[in-house]
Amino acid sequence: MNKKDKDIKVVLEFIKVFCRENHNNIEKQFDQDLQAQLCSECQDLALYAVKRRQVCPKDPKPACKNCDTPCYAPKYKEKIRQVMKFSGIFLMKRGRLDYLYHYLF
Ligand SMILES: [Zn+2]
Repeated sequence: MNKKDKDIKVVLEFIKVFCRENHNNIEKQFDQDLQAQLCSECQDLALYAVKRRQVCPKDPKPACKNCDTPCYAPKYKEKIRQVMKFSGIFLMKRGRLDYLYHYLF
C-alpha cells in the first residue's frame, strides 16, 4: 500500500470512528466508494477529505497542520479538526497510536 492510500485509509478510519460515536441517532448509508457506513454529513466530509488527499501536490505530504498551502475550505477544515481531535483521543485510549504519528491535524 502506498503512502497516499494509507493516508486515505487513516482519514476514513478517523471519520468512521467519529460518526459511530457521535452520530448514533442519525440515519446512515453505506457508501460504496468509501466502504463505510456514514451519515450524510460525514459522508460529505469523507469524500472531500479523500479528494483533497488525492490532489495533494506535496510529496512527501507534511502533516496538514504544518503545511504551507492549506487546501481545506474553512467549513471542512473546522469539521475535520474536530474529527481528528475526537478520534485521535479515542484511538489513543485504545492503544491505536500507530494511526496518530503522521496524521494529526
Ligand atoms: Zn456522522
